[in-house]
Amino acid sequence: MNKKILIGNWKMNPSNLIEAISIASGIEGDIKISDKIDTAIAPPFTFISEVSNVISKVSLAAQNVFWEDEGAYTGEVSAKQLKSLGVKYVIIGHSERRSNGETDIEINKKIKLVIEKGLIPILCIGESKKVRDDGVEKVKNFIEEQIKKDTKNINVNELVIAYEPIWAISSNDNARPATPDNIKEMIAFIKEITSESINVLYGGSVNPGNVKDFTSLNDLNGFLVGGASLRPKEFISIYKELL
Ligand code: PEP
Repeated sequence: MNKKILIGNWKMNPSNLIEAISIASGIEGDIKISDKIDTAIAPPFTFISEVSNVISKVSLAAQNVFWEDEGAYTGEVSAKQLKSLGVKYVIIGHSERRSNGETDIEINKKIKLVIEKGLIPILCIGESKKVRDDGVEKVKNFIEEQIKKDTKNINVNELVIAYEPIWAISSNDNARPATPDNIKEMIAFIKEITSESINVLYGGSVNPGNVKDFTSLNDLNGFLVGGASLRPKEFISIYKELL
């Protein structure tokens, strides 16, 4: 069995460095070195460097990266820079970035560069509520297209996929977690069209109250957690369910 992966996506939080250090230290304090699970946190770029000083058992992830590694690109952050700070994983193609205009072509370029630099891409995929309401065959078509475009000319075994249905992400209106059956079906499908050995995470309103519903899914390799990762006690409760 592959090592489980738990990633905390802090999104554009918290609002200052003191809080960032406090959240990171709170999580670090309760994590054990384990060969069963790799736990990572993805603070905003601005806090990565300082946060890296207070964690050692927790890995670092970034929420985005630019697709070129050097050049005149004002405001962008390179994979080389992330690597120099000890970043291990890079979240790519989060639905919140796609909804702000990030394209599959950009995502594909980012994944290629991240792999080339020795970092691990966490590719986020997932359908909207509208697609889900049209039925599971439509969902599968959508997911297949997304994966095909995002991973064109890429060895899929080099990446981790996070299945994050948009309607399940807690910051969206009327969000509710996907059911274990939804997740099971989509993991099986994702593995069928990519690789049996690919790591697939689930993300969408995972919290200490519902995590047990998902941990019995054999093919699930872990979670991408948003909101609850900003609250160390909640994040640690989720972590403990994976141990
Ligand atoms: C996310 O930000 O990727 C996410 C899954 O958020 P939440 O856990 O808050 O739904």
